[in-house]
Amino acid sequence: MSTPAGWAPTDRRRSSVRWDVVVVGSTNVDLVLTVARHPRPGETLIGGSGELFAGGKGANQAVAAARLGARTAMVGAVGGDPNAAVALSELTAADVDLEAMARVPGPTGLAVVTLADDGENTIVVVPGANAAVTPAVVEAARAVVGGARICLLQAEIPLEAVTRAAAIAAAEDVRVVLNLAPACQLPIATLRLADPLVVNEHEVALLLGWLRAEDGPSPAPAVTGGTPATHAEALAAARALRAYGVRSVVVTLGRLGAVGIGADGEWSLPARTVPVRDTTGAGDAFVGALAAALAAGHPLADAAATATGVAAFSVQRLGAQASYPWKDDPLP
Ligand code: ADP
Repeated sequence: MSTPAGWAPTDRRRSSVRWDVVVVGSTNVDLVLTVARHPRPGETLIGGSGELFAGGKGANQAVAAARLGARTAMVGAVGGDPNAAVALSELTAADVDLEAMARVPGPTGLAVVTLADDGENTIVVVPGANAAVTPAVVEAARAVVGGARICLLQAEIPLEAVTRAAAIAAAEDVRVVLNLAPACQLPIATLRLADPLVVNEHEVALLLGWLRAEDGPSPAPAVTGGTPATHAEALAAARALRAYGVRSVVVTLGRLGAVGIGADGEWSLPARTVPVRDTTGAGDAFVGALAAALAAGHPLADAAATATGVAAFSVQRLGAQASYPWKDDPLP
């Protein structure tokens, strides 16, 4: 990741920074089954292929950041089963530091994905060892979190652990990037630590619904409450989140691109037009790349432009982690 001209780290923790990005999150294996169509309840179908891939939103994002050259560490847990080796394979290959990964009895997190010919997929996730990533595990990794420029979080581990990681990062002057995926209800105080909060169009609609119910209507006008389908609607939703006190917001919109709002103002970016093969993990490619670029000192809008290229690279290839670009791969 290139460093912008004239940028130099100025944070007071300069000497203690060991990592560009520390991810506190999930590590799974994805069992991907291809089917002509999805089975109906009670029905048995013969599938096409069945393959195991390294997955989990946390690990996906760590691999995306590390492949771009960010010094990356991961805090999480795998089980004692043979799937653990698969779950860690791409992290290891990308040189992600795994010292703070716990090994716990029982199964590694498992996602069963059925991919149908029409491109629709269904996913069932069994948390397995990810459920063992408790606040105590995060607390034990305080030095790792405190030694990073960016603490990157998702919501596939117990939510109290996400909240604790954000609090530790904030206390240690580490920038929090929070990808609220899957959508969940975190305390508003945690959302306000995110800089940025990254959500897709469905997550932002759910989140605004919960905030409206709990904290009253957003002071920002013109939010209809539905799932945003245009850049203008997504920007209105992002403004509404800012009005609840979130510092900066990125809303991703799949093939429509992404919009954002932060201290530097508002921006919107179209997605790159590329031949699409498999969009699995595109959101994680985007978020991991965003964190890597922010750690390198880029402003949010520039980081999102890089992330857009990285995500477009990934949708042209099969799988999640295996589809992410390395530092010198040309981006679309
Ligand atoms: P999520 O998987 O979290 O819902 P999105 O689908 O919003 O994430 O995708 C994240 C980013 O990936 C988008 O902002 C866009 O830049 C890129 N992307 C997704 N789908 C496509 C596509 N079909 N073509 C090009 N880029 C895409």
